[in-house]
Amino acid sequence: MRNDELLALDRAHVWHPYGPMPGRTDPLVVASASGVRLRLAEAAEGRDELIDGMSSWWSAIHGYNHPVLNEAVRGQLDRMSHVMFGGLTHEPAVRLAARLVEITPEPLRHVFLSDSGSVAVEVAVKMCLQHWRSVGRPGKQRLLTWRGGYHGDTWQPMSVCDPEGGMHELWSGVLQRQVFVDAPPVAYEESYAELLRTEIARHADELAAVIVEPVVQGAGGMRFHDPAYLKVLREACDAHDVLLVFDEIATGFGRTGTLFAADQAGVSPDVMCVGKALTGGYLSMAATLCTSRVADGISQGEVPVLAHGPTFMGNPLASAVALASIDLLLSRDWAVDVKRIEAGLRDGLAPVADLPGVKDVRVCGAIGVVQLDHDVDMAAATRAAVRAGVWLRPFRDLIYTMPPFVTGDEDLARICAGVHAAAAAG
Ligand SMILES: *Cc1c(COP(=O)(O)O)cnc(C)c1O
Repeated sequence: MRNDELLALDRAHVWHPYGPMPGRTDPLVVASASGVRLRLAEAAEGRDELIDGMSSWWSAIHGYNHPVLNEAVRGQLDRMSHVMFGGLTHEPAVRLAARLVEITPEPLRHVFLSDSGSVAVEVAVKMCLQHWRSVGRPGKQRLLTWRGGYHGDTWQPMSVCDPEGGMHELWSGVLQRQVFVDAPPVAYEESYAELLRTEIARHADELAAVIVEPVVQGAGGMRFHDPAYLKVLREACDAHDVLLVFDEIATGFGRTGTLFAADQAGVSPDVMCVGKALTGGYLSMAATLCTSRVADGISQGEVPVLAHGPTFMGNPLASAVALASIDLLLSRDWAVDVKRIEAGLRDGLAPVADLPGVKDVRVCGAIGVVQLDHDVDMAAATRAAVRAGVWLRPFRDLIYTMPPFVTGDEDLARICAGVHAAAAAG
């Protein structure tokens, strides 16, 4: 199909994320992707190839078109691409669940597989509410979170996303009203820890769970915080009979420098969500893990089952590639790569701080963030990055990058130059 025909059809019929209909700006058409490069169907700003600075929203940690991951999908395709999970089971899903239990914090033990991060969060919330209902405390049905979070776009997750300035502000009157505390400060402050303790204690009777993104808040504002706050949450939740949910959908699988962000605090949640990088960016899959305590609670209820069952639950193709992606990650010295990228981002982004209009530059693991003192001019910033040969997708006042872990030093320097160009233009 000719590029202009494709774009005309795209504009007429296809919704894009957080977009209007019909679309107002033309997306770039990607013809193929390999390693850390996206190949465009038609050159833009003189570039027919872009270095990927986004890992396709945190997911493509090994880069694109990886021979090992391709083989995992191909091998599974010849056996079966899908069978229903009700009444049937299969090796890829069972092995994946066991592997997830093995690599996530003790005592997470049971795994609910689903098809996207938002659904994994829905399932986590359902587990927590049902746990309390089943053990005779049905009044515990609200959630507490800190501001600045992002947990997905379906209804329950939306209710714990940052209520102001975020993507879901329109729905503030419609959504379940949850308990919000201020966003966590970057460094540890005892007064903030005290606020967390006080609010959890104050709302304990109505709280089913506290849900947070550990260490890095992603799409709610790309903010980082001291892992010590996670310990405070764990202790306060234990003291007041509240479950603790970690949403590791963005932070999981090494992005922050530890395999899971929870590892930085040595804290185990009662329920944990993973997604995004789970399949190395190949297929849509997420998982909700819980402890035996949570599962046992549900089992002793009047309705002793978890009434959830996505059609494509445990999809064999996704399971097989997820297993291969985890094995690939653990077989490499991934932590060294993340440290190398962290150092490269610190060096490469430091000069950006001197640009006018730049409020903050911060790096955590393989995540680099430039915050402006105004909303980014998306079109100008994206164009400037593309001109520099780099794919970035800024939002609000943020230009950020989380490159694939396999990004070489030279490409990483070019990504930093792309962020610099975007910040100067936007
Ligand atoms: C992306 C994300 C989600 C939602 O995942 P989807 O697969 O997009 O539904 C939830 N929580 C966090 C922390 C995320 O980054």
